[in-house]
Amino acid sequence: MATAKFRNCQICGKVFQSINRAKICDSCKAKQAELEQKAIDYVRDHPKSTIPETAEATGVSEKIIMRLIDEGRFEEVGVAITYQCAKCGAPIVTGKYCQKCKESLNKTLQETKKNILKQASAAPKSPGGGAHSSGMKKD
Ligand SMILES: [Zn+2]
Ligand SMILES: [Zn+2]
Repeated sequence: MATAKFRNCQICGKVFQSINRAKICDSCKAKQAELEQKAIDYVRDHPKSTIPETAEATGVSEKIIMRLIDEGRFEEVGVAITYQCAKCGAPIVTGKYCQKCKESLNKTLQETKKNILKQASAAPKSPGGGAHSSGMKKD
């Protein structure tokens, strides 16, 4: 028995036979693949386009373009799209953060590491003991 189930397409709502837990029907899948390709082709022709530019020129939603970036689809085919650094919003074409944020993140990370090491080596020593001065009597 094949593990095909009938379910509603998440995009068009049509009932379709879902194989391997597919969430959208074949025609929507084909349409989506077409859109994805369109976005990739556009950026290939217009390197370093931004997400809004690409969305406007191709009619592909920014959500799809963002997903493509997430999946590394542009890098995969050697296409450079400009998107925002996840931290400061600076335009970047690769990775998640711009160079500046990457450096500062690295620095923070190293400082945190250093601090942890410092704290570990500066562990409180137990007092030497023997310095009792109980019973102070005065005659
Ligand atoms: Zn569909
Ligand atoms: Zn940044």
